[in-house]
Amino acid sequence: MLYYAEADLSHLEVPGETCLCLYISGCLHKCKGCHYSILQDKNTGLPLSKYIYDLVELYISKITCVCYLGEGNNSAEEKHELIKYSKYVHSRGLKSCLYSGSNTSVEDWMKTFDYIKLGAYDSSRGGLSAQTTNQMMLQKDRYSYIDITYKFWVSNRNSPTMESHYELQRLNQHL
Ligand code: SF4
Repeated sequence: MLYYAEADLSHLEVPGETCLCLYISGCLHKCKGCHYSILQDKNTGLPLSKYIYDLVELYISKITCVCYLGEGNNSAEEKHELIKYSKYVHSRGLKSCLYSGSNTSVEDWMKTFDYIKLGAYDSSRGGLSAQTTNQMMLQKDRYSYIDITYKFWVSNRNSPTMESHYELQRLNQHL
C-alpha cells in the first residue's frame, strides 16, 4: 500500500502544468545527496488510498495534473495502485505524471501516465533543471513519448523568487 509524506501544489514539476504533487514514501533508491531522505522510510505519512480522492476534489479547480513523486517499493501491487490513481485523475479531466527514480526506459506499466520522469539523482550531473542532467522528462505523444527535458532549461527560471528558488533547489535534487 502506498503512503505519502507530503502534498503540495506546484507549477515546477511538469512544464506547462499546475500539479498536485504527492510525495510517495518507501523509496528504494539510495541516491547520494538525497534531499528528502524521509521518503526512504517505509510507510511514512498517510495511506494514499484513504486521501487521494479527497485531495483531488479539494484542488481540482486549481490543478491540471496530479504528480506522483516516487514509486514506493516498486512492487506489482503498488504499481497497480499508481495505475489506478492515474486512470482516476484522467476520469476527472486531469493529466498524470510519474516521477520515477529508476534508471530505466519507459516500462509497460508506466504508459498510463501523460508524463514520466526517469532517472536517479546524480549529484555530479544535477537534476532536471541542469543541462548536464542524466534525468529525463517525457511527455506522451499519442502512442510514444517525447523528451521534453529541455523545457526545464528555459530562461523564465533564471530569476527565481524566494519561493521558486527553494522549489528549484528541491527539483534539482529530487528523484
Ligand atoms: S533523491 Fe529521490 S529517488 Fe533518490 S533516494 Fe531520495 S527520494 Fe529516493
